[in-house]
Amino acid sequence: MADFLIIVSATSSLRFLSKNVLPLVSRTLPYGFIGFVCYGLDAICLSMQNVHLRAILDNFTHGIISCISWCIVSEIRTPRDVIDAISSGIIACSLDVDHFVAAKSLKLQDALHLQNRPFLHSTTVVFIVVPMLEVFLAQNIPYLQSLPYLFAVAIISHHLRDGHRRGLWFWPIGSTPAIPYWLYVVYIVALPYFVKELKVSVEKTPDFPVSNNLLFNV
Ligand SMILES: [Zn+2]
Repeated sequence: MADFLIIVSATSSLRFLSKNVLPLVSRTLPYGFIGFVCYGLDAICLSMQNVHLRAILDNFTHGIISCISWCIVSEIRTPRDVIDAISSGIIACSLDVDHFVAAKSLKLQDALHLQNRPFLHSTTVVFIVVPMLEVFLAQNIPYLQSLPYLFAVAIISHHLRDGHRRGLWFWPIGSTPAIPYWLYVVYIVALPYFVKELKVSVEKTPDFPVSNNLLFNV
């Protein structure tokens, strides 16, 4: 009898685990993973003595963080999501080109010692470019539907990473103080969650009925 009760209790425990705990773990694991990757790559960057290698790894980290963030947002359901994740990584990496443009030089030392922050590092860009991408591209070309979200993830994750050293820059208002390290990691972990929730809620919003347009057809 005792053996039977043990088997019954073990079975119900396993059922509880598979129904409640495992889905929760599989949902939260990617967020823990991105926090771990972020912290790990930052630590390697800091430990590097060679300025050139450190700059390359720092830039690569921007790309990796953005790429993983998009994987979390899209849940990698189609091959297209893989292309989008890689694109998101490339956009995040390419933002640092503005250092060289502002320095008018291809030398890393010139690019790293600018008097002011270069233009693509203004977080105001997100509030201007993302709505434009949504109105002019995403709403008209189904293939580019995810572009505004993808762009937002790439830019914001890059700015947050830079922000723990120099704060966020909101041109023309000014810059925030440097983001504390722990808070920056929390933001990096939270970013894909919020973008994913926003994307899902926007996609669920019903389109404005075509017949209602007649109200304005005067
Ligand atoms: Zn940067």
